[in-house]
Amino acid sequence: MHTHDVIVIGAGLAGLRCATDLARAGRDVVVLEAGDAVGGRQRTDEVDGFLLDRGFHVLNPAYPAMQRGVDIAALRLQRFPVGVRVRRERTVAEIAHPLRHPASILETLRSGLIGGADAVALARWLAPALLGPRTMMAAPDRTLREGWDRARLFGTLRTEVLAPFLTGVLADDSQTTSDAFVRLLMRMFVLGRPGLPERGIGALPAQLALTATAEGVGIRLGQRVSRLRPDSGGVQVDVDGGDAISAALVVVAVGPDAVSDLIDLPRPPMRGLQTWWFATDTAPAASAMISVDARRRGPIVNTAVMSNSIASYAPRGRHLVQATCLLRADGVEQATETDVRRQLGEIWQTGAASWTLLRRDDIPFALPAQAAPLRATTRARIADAVFVAGDHRATASIQGALASGERAARAILAAGRERAIDDRP
Ligand SMILES: Cc1cc2nc3c(=O)[nH]c(=O)nc-3n(C[C@H](O)[C@H](O)[C@H](O)COP(=O)(O)OP(=O)(O)OC[C@H]3O[C@@H](n4cnc5c(N)ncnc54)[C@H](O)[C@@H]3O)c2cc1C
Repeated sequence: MHTHDVIVIGAGLAGLRCATDLARAGRDVVVLEAGDAVGGRQRTDEVDGFLLDRGFHVLNPAYPAMQRGVDIAALRLQRFPVGVRVRRERTVAEIAHPLRHPASILETLRSGLIGGADAVALARWLAPALLGPRTMMAAPDRTLREGWDRARLFGTLRTEVLAPFLTGVLADDSQTTSDAFVRLLMRMFVLGRPGLPERGIGALPAQLALTATAEGVGIRLGQRVSRLRPDSGGVQVDVDGGDAISAALVVVAVGPDAVSDLIDLPRPPMRGLQTWWFATDTAPAASAMISVDARRRGPIVNTAVMSNSIASYAPRGRHLVQATCLLRADGVEQATETDVRRQLGEIWQTGAASWTLLRRDDIPFALPAQAAPLRATTRARIADAVFVAGDHRATASIQGALASGERAARAILAAGRERAIDDRP
């Protein structure tokens, strides 16, 4: 007899969503999490009255999996403007979504960042994702660079806006990410207005954990699983420093960096990010937009005055600025604080030398590399009693993590139905 129907290993978005769906279907589920809180890559800490996410995150409420299972209103999302502020050679210009910010249309047109040919090429590139995403996903995929070439998108919109902006979003400056994946992301930027929960990105997994608990899921923190072993038709799970427990089925939702420690899957290639969090008494600009440096003169791929969009991220009268850089796995070309402060000063056109560095987050395993061709779904069941979930099994995003959790739960429930049919006298 097993202790539980299902053990879910990992309390990130994928594990929490999967556990909830299983408990709702009447399964006895326990989640084992190695960390001291739920959330995995999505955690928020309070430091000197500031809210610091672990790395710079953005939450898009248009993700279908967010709309299916998250009480978005309860997160009290504070939104970023849908646009980008660009530090150009001599000027700073802003380009904004024309429908969401109609008052900015003239400024966008005058920015010099989008010419007629670029506008047509952008429409050519994005139309399939906006009009028929399923058809687009079924068509042959290619790298982002090839996708832009094919759409004949060659002007400043590509070189000074899209390329610098997407470098930070994808943690990739090689433009080898799947073109179809990037177009799906851009579709979300067109459909939704991204923001962050008032209490930080960690509020999303915290809400999922509350929902899971209300459905009867037991979430145990500080439980690092070291090994899985077959056990009378189910699986025995060894926990560091604790007693082994068993279940009829196990879901491995440990994240791409740890998955190959537990099951026979190769570790997926990953991309790294580094975020520097600074406190200042005066906001360097009134703009709440995410800023990029089209000149690429330094390690920063994007920066934002967080407190201009989300006042709760800083104590009253103070401001929080984030600066994100790529973090290369080989440790070569790491950003120095001097370089980061210098470039911040240039992007915001003010001195950044006196800003207080609150924290630096180095996240070498931030996002699975999403190479072409896009495979948005992979098998959830990898052995008789073992299932796997996580963004690395779907797409490198919140949407991907949640959707893969849902898919693993569906696969388990379908397997249960098969077994019930087999067991019939
Ligand atoms: C800096 C950063 C910025 C991002 N920005 C965005 C964004 O703007 N938009 C977006 O859509 N996505 C973004 N993402 C991606 C998104 O956060 C992830 O896709 C998602 O959180 C992954 O969830 P997961 O459940 O698949 O994995 P994880 O969050 O990695 O969860 C895995 C869990 O398993 C636990 N675990 C590991 N090993 C064990 C073990 N042996 N035993 C028990 N537990 C274990 C871990 O502690 C962790 O809690 C960002 C990610 C990072 C890091």
